[in-house]
Amino acid sequence: MKDRARHLDAADPLAAYRERFDVPEGVIYLDGNSLGCLPKATPDRLAEVVRGEWGTGLVRSWNDADWIAMPQRIGAKIAPLIGAAPHEVIACDSVSVNLFKLISAALAMRPGRKVVLSEPGNFPTDLYMIDGLERQGLAERRLAKRGDLPDALDEDVALLLLTHAHYKTGELFDMAALTRAAHEAGALVLWDLSHSAGAYPVHLGECEADFAVGCGYKYLNGGPGAPAFAFVAERHHDAVRQPLSGWMGHAAPFEFSDDYSPAPGVDRLLCGTPPILGMAALEVGVDLIAEIGVDRLYAKSKALSEFFRQCVSEHGVELDLVSPTDPDARGSQLSFRHGNAYALSQALIARGVIGDFRDPDILRLGFAPAYLSFTDIAEAASHLAKVLESGEWRREEFGKRAAVT
Ligand SMILES: *Cc1c(COP(=O)(O)O)cnc(C)c1O
Repeated sequence: MKDRARHLDAADPLAAYRERFDVPEGVIYLDGNSLGCLPKATPDRLAEVVRGEWGTGLVRSWNDADWIAMPQRIGAKIAPLIGAAPHEVIACDSVSVNLFKLISAALAMRPGRKVVLSEPGNFPTDLYMIDGLERQGLAERRLAKRGDLPDALDEDVALLLLTHAHYKTGELFDMAALTRAAHEAGALVLWDLSHSAGAYPVHLGECEADFAVGCGYKYLNGGPGAPAFAFVAERHHDAVRQPLSGWMGHAAPFEFSDDYSPAPGVDRLLCGTPPILGMAALEVGVDLIAEIGVDRLYAKSKALSEFFRQCVSEHGVELDLVSPTDPDARGSQLSFRHGNAYALSQALIARGVIGDFRDPDILRLGFAPAYLSFTDIAEAASHLAKVLESGEWRREEFGKRAAVT
């Protein structure tokens, strides 16, 4: 296994990119789908923004350092990763807030329809944001299992809201087919790309998606709490109106008018002042992922996760895989079901193999292809085999739940 890993590493066209990230010594990081690694260029860029642009430039930097255009500039850099045009994407707020804006906008674009359709077990914030609008009487939440979604698309549905790669299992939706089905039913579609953007080539334009949101701190390596992004297809740019009508989304914020008039295009999704430090860190991560290219990243991610499965099976480890066995049907992760998945994840962390646990019984391992080597994968599989064989996970200290899992 180790020899094979060495050969795969020697033939890996992305091998050199590991050096562009700060991967701590002794850590095999299989949680880039929760918080991506730190690009080596980020601290210097942040120091420059803090000391130079903020410390010295002060308020002048809104113009001189073009802070004001960061949401659009970073959005344009994210666009090719998700199959969108540069002017269709903007970096702003959190995924949750962007969901609120776009669900509201979609409901307003389908008068007479109130249902927002999603699947049970979707990422909690997606379901909670629908819930919040329901409690205001603006939406009606309907949940249908994957296979039942096409049938649940009736004339009451305003919006289909789905997460492209499932956060727990990695299972992918057929974006083109479901988007078509929703449109045939007269509904709009909003895709949550949090587990796809930067790891999986998404084709929003080709699929004729209406809206999308996604996360900056996972595969885009923008840092903890990095700004998220939002996409609106160009054909909706005039029709889309969102309720968080803050001054930064105004057509002319510095005219200080008493009346709101939305900026053209995706700029109207802005609400308040963009967090420049977070934006600066996000831009470094996005630049790096864009430089590598999402097709190459996905090819490697499939190779990594398949190699992991091979190694695990050669160790004779039997684990219940809940992700699709077909690598084309999943995003960049493998999830296993185990009665003591939490203790297992803690025992692995104690060995330097950082994955995570998702309630109630899922051990989730993410394969962020930009900085993982095949040698990491062989070693992680070997640690997993040892933890299971030795029963090391039964140790008392591995059973205590922390606040964040
Ligand atoms: C991580 C994640 C989010 C994060 O939402 P925030 O509001 O940025 O915290 C949303 N949706 C999905 C599917 C996620 O995986």
